[in-house]
Amino acid sequence: MTNAPDSQSYEAIIIGAGPSGASSAAILAEYGHRVLVLEREKFPRYHIGESLIPFTFQPLQRLGMIPKLKQSHFVKKYSVTFVQPDGARSQPFYFFNRYDRDTVAQTWQVLRSEFDQMMLDNAREKGAEVREETTVNRLLTEGGRVVGVEATDKSGRTYEVRAPITLDCSGKEAFASNRNGWRLRDPYLNKIAVWTYYKDSKRGEGIDEGDTTVAFVPDKGWFWHIPQHNRMTSVGVVAEGKYLTRGGVKDPREIFQREVAENAWIQDRLSTGHSTGEYYITSEYSRHSRYCAAPGLVLVGDAFAFLDPVFSSGIMLALKSGHLVGEAVHAGLLAGDLSLARFTDYSAALRQGIENMRKLVYAFYNPAFSFRQVIERYPDAGGQITDCLSGDVNKDYTVLWNRIREFVPLPDDLPYGVPMPETAAAGKG
Ligand SMILES: Cc1cc2nc3c(=O)[nH]c(=O)nc-3n(C[C@H](O)[C@H](O)[C@H](O)COP(=O)(O)OP(=O)(O)OC[C@H]3O[C@@H](n4cnc5c(N)ncnc54)[C@H](O)[C@@H]3O)c2cc1C
Repeated sequence: MTNAPDSQSYEAIIIGAGPSGASSAAILAEYGHRVLVLEREKFPRYHIGESLIPFTFQPLQRLGMIPKLKQSHFVKKYSVTFVQPDGARSQPFYFFNRYDRDTVAQTWQVLRSEFDQMMLDNAREKGAEVREETTVNRLLTEGGRVVGVEATDKSGRTYEVRAPITLDCSGKEAFASNRNGWRLRDPYLNKIAVWTYYKDSKRGEGIDEGDTTVAFVPDKGWFWHIPQHNRMTSVGVVAEGKYLTRGGVKDPREIFQREVAENAWIQDRLSTGHSTGEYYITSEYSRHSRYCAAPGLVLVGDAFAFLDPVFSSGIMLALKSGHLVGEAVHAGLLAGDLSLARFTDYSAALRQGIENMRKLVYAFYNPAFSFRQVIERYPDAGGQITDCLSGDVNKDYTVLWNRIREFVPLPDDLPYGVPMPETAAAGKG
């Protein structure tokens, strides 16, 4: 064990260089703070989560990423379409029917290895120091306060590094939440996802090339169909585990292929292509953290909460939280006050966004629900549903929820995600 020679020189340590880590690092570095990002993998690295939604625009713009994305070869996404098991297809919903065509209404289908590399390069350009192939092993605490981390680099050297604040951006590893016993499953959203990549399968043309299709299979399961560049398409199925593994089928490839036969449109789309042969599976589903912050520590992105990906909200929430935390930490560093109260507004904004999206996810999975029913009774509800699905999640949707509750129950807000109470924090030491 060694102390890194520079161990006192950082103002913030960031665990993980995904979208939440890279965005908070970029913001803090841009303000001139000394930021260290520790990332276990060597980038570019594979990651699932490839479809952006319209309201990623604002945080990406704040980070200076829009010109870079415009120059990239990522497929442009203008719409979402829903397809029934028999192949009946809704009209594409084009975002430009509601939002500004040159900004919010056009987003991207990304390859995460490339997108995350771009985001990390952006943070580096703004002055963040990044150490890849470096795994954080534990949080260092003194008197109940997190004062830094212990990490091991690829040569096997283990060292300590210190800063007044540590940002946990570790994604599904949920580093702090797991270790502190804060990780809580969502009471209802326990799904499994199985996915692969196809080359040369069929796709739309022109502005429909980058359409995200959500294609239903029985029992409220659904496929995502996300066309990417280089003639690749990301395609996966999400449903209850007991449905996907019915009859004892456990092999991801078999699960996937069986479900393809359950949706005529997906079957047709994939018929001209071939799978890369790699099949992925995850049962890491919706979860929350009891607290968003403890003294010297704040949780960001998936490390804070993860919501079922049916509406592709993960990167939007990761960028939003990275942005908000970056601003809150900057203000705290300037004031010389990183007390827990600094993260109250952050927690409120993020939980509001998560809870709004979560209500739509619950409604979606209820067999008795369809968005069409609500819009038929309340035509103006369509705009509100669209706004929330597009990621405009920090608004008061009470009227919409009351209308949807006429059809199906919606969950109450979970009492999670506030900063740890000062009394509990004081007891920790
Ligand atoms: C099946 C599925 C489909 C999805 N589809 C979409 C989609 O279409 N659109 C969308 O927006 N989102 C989607 N998501 C969600 C999206 O992938 C995540 O919300 C997003 O990646 C969160 O970003 P993050 O920065 O918080 O975490 P991550 O991107 O997971 O980054 C965390 C980083 O931390 C590093 N790390 C972890 N532990 C340590 C450690 N101990 N030391 C050092 N480094 C560490 C990891 O290596 C990783 O690079 C999907 C998720 C799933 C599971």
